[in-house]
Amino acid sequence: MRLADGTVLLGWPLAQHTVTAGNYYNDGSAHNAIDLRAAAGTPAYAAEDGPVDWVQAWDGRTTTGVQSYGNAVRIRHADAGGKSLQTRYAHLSQVLVRPGDAVKAGQLIGYSGQSGNVTAPHLHFEVILDGVRRNPLVWLDDDFTTASPAVYTYAAGEGPVARPAQQPAALQRVVIGPVTAGDADILQKFAAWLGLDARGLVRREDAGSGARVVLGPLSAGDVRMTVELADYLGLTQAGLVKVEAA
Ligand SMILES: [Zn+2]
Repeated sequence: MRLADGTVLLGWPLAQHTVTAGNYYNDGSAHNAIDLRAAAGTPAYAAEDGPVDWVQAWDGRTTTGVQSYGNAVRIRHADAGGKSLQTRYAHLSQVLVRPGDAVKAGQLIGYSGQSGNVTAPHLHFEVILDGVRRNPLVWLDDDFTTASPAVYTYAAGEGPVARPAQQPAALQRVVIGPVTAGDADILQKFAAWLGLDARGLVRREDAGSGARVVLGPLSAGDVRMTVELADYLGLTQAGLVKVEAA
């Protein structure tokens, strides 16, 4: 996905995120990918939308060259900062997509395995920017653990993509009335039970032919409970309840 400022935040290609090898192996040699712990047959998911631009079927024996990827999938995503962006998923036991398929972020594309140049099942995941393999962790959020403290994560100045905070739902006001003094009493007791009066969020006004009760600003949950009570009292049906922006 792309954040409001255009930053790329890729989705994790597996449900569980344990990094067993980082962008550099523990001996310091370049990996230019991450390995994720995965038993054979673990579902693998597309990190972002895009067309599948390469699929390889392993020949079952070669572990060098491009065949070292085993059964593998590559997806071309929208450009990032004017550069082409691709992700690759390797050592799969089974591939479920074909070149040209338009996949969605989170779509099941295959199952992890141990095809190609591997000694044990895992998922090898690459992020490729303008043809150059980059540290995948820089394109993902911080929702992962490492198999050991020795596993490489980030270079100095690098870090995870910050997941944006959820926007809070807009607060609303509920205006009920005119109602009888008895119904107004019930609404006020309800507001006290919700803790609204202690926070100054309930007001009772004289509305000539009765009383008007104004509650809010309220969260969506409090609005729903208030309207349910008004329904129970028959006030919604009588057109005496208004929910408006606070
Ligand atoms: Zn790897």
